[in-house]
Formats: sequence, structure tokens, C-alpha cells
Amino acid sequence: MPELPEVETIARQLRERGVEGREILAVRIDWPRMVEPLTPAAFAQAICGTKIKTIGRTGKWIHIELSSGQHWMVHLRMAGSFSKRRSKFDRGEILLTGGMKLYFRDTRKFGRWKLVDDPQEILGKLGPDALSTSFTAAYLESLLTTRKRAIKPLLLDQALIAGIGNIYADEALWKTAIHPQRCSSSLAPDERKALYRAIRHVLRIGVQNRGTSLGKGQTNYRDMNGESGQHRQRVKAYGRRGLPCERCKTPLIKIVVAQRGTTLCPTCQVR
Ligand SMILES: [Zn+2]
Repeated sequence: MPELPEVETIARQLRERGVEGREILAVRIDWPRMVEPLTPAAFAQAICGTKIKTIGRTGKWIHIELSSGQHWMVHLRMAGSFSKRRSKFDRGEILLTGGMKLYFRDTRKFGRWKLVDDPQEILGKLGPDALSTSFTAAYLESLLTTRKRAIKPLLLDQALIAGIGNIYADEALWKTAIHPQRCSSSLAPDERKALYRAIRHVLRIGVQNRGTSLGKGQTNYRDMNGESGQHRQRVKAYGRRGLPCERCKTPLIKIVVAQRGTTLCPTCQVR
């Protein structure tokens, strides 16, 4: 599932391609559920003829500011992505000035487009973006110390911190040798500081590598050019069950934490 680094990669590639400043000339939507509660016709009518002013990202949301004053909000969910190439998994197609076409590829059909007058209608429900300046060490410390929750589900709670998903939570917890089921308030001050640095580090490295793709399958994350992210080689825990821990050589194990598959080192990460 695309997390902060994968969504950031798509947003950057849209900007680099010069999508900002172009007018939307035509829109085709093939999957009506994607734009609910609007109909495809109503959604298309609302954005056609408007200009794309800016493209931003908060957490796992891409926000596209339109000249109409409305904001086109995109959540990629399981496997959505914008692409410059047509595929049989396209659920939407956008024609922009200059003949530029964008395809919304989504093998799993969970991706969502929303049209709002104020992005805060959606972003206001999220915690600070994990790579923004408002996500500080002091903020994380207050989250951890004032709650008695298992640490991994706390990190995944988008209302507390926006952008972290299963991959980068497992990576940050492995890096800091913290068991994912430990109670948040049990972390020592050193562990809280280390966890903050680890979250920022794994997300930044993920962005630098254009995100993580775990395989070559059609449902795997692809960037706008249809390419896999390069972060796979850097992953230390996620998806490495049975492979040796890079610190202590113990084979990593997979457990379920809050209904999410979780990979960890049973020697380094003790409960
Ligand atoms: Zn280990």
C-alpha cells in the first residue's frame, strides 16, 4: 500500500512533468465508486475547464488545487497511482492542455477521488504529516507518554501521525529495536528520541529511493513512469520473514499486531 514516500514520489513526478498550470480539458471516469458521493459525470463537469494550480501532499493524500477554488483530493489506498502510460487497470483518464494525458491506474479499485471546497475537510482529521516541521520530537513524546497503546497501531493511526503505514512502521521499530506490541508509555526517553529519528530517517530514505515496491506483480506500487520503487533493497524488516536480522543474524519472524502482518527480530525486539 502506498505510504508517505510512495505518495510523495507520485506528487513530485506530477509536478516535474509540468502538470501544474495546465487546464483540464476532459475527464473519463470508469469506476463510479471512486468518486462517490458524486457521479462520474458530476465530478468530470466540476473539474473540466479549471486549471491545476498546485499539487501537494499531506500524509497519504495528494491535494490538487484547482482554479475554481475547489480541491481535488486523491487517496491511492491499496494500489492506486497516476501514470503517463495507458494500462488495462486504468479507472480514470485526464486530458490536459498541450495534449498531455494522465491515467489513474488502480488494480485493486480502492483509490478515491474527492472534491472539496476546503482541504481541511479531509486534512483536518489527520495528525501532523510525518515529514513536516509540525511533527516534532516533542510531539511524538507527548503522544507516547500520554497514551497506553501498543506502539505499532499508534504509529499507524493517521489521526495522530499522517503518512506512516505498515512498511515504514516495521522499519522504524526494527531500527530502534522496539517490539511493536510494547506499550507506548513504557518507552524510555532514549527510545522515544531514537524512534523519532528512525521514523524521519526511514521515510526520507524511502522518498530518496522513490518508494518501496515489494515485487513485480501488477498490484505492486509503481511510480508515474511505471517503474518499481528502489527502496526494496534498503528494507531491513518488512517482508523479510525468515531472513537473518542484519544486526544479530536471528531469522526474522512475522506476527499479527492489530490485524496487520508485522515482521520483527525476536532477539533484538523483545517485549
Ligand atoms: Zn536481531
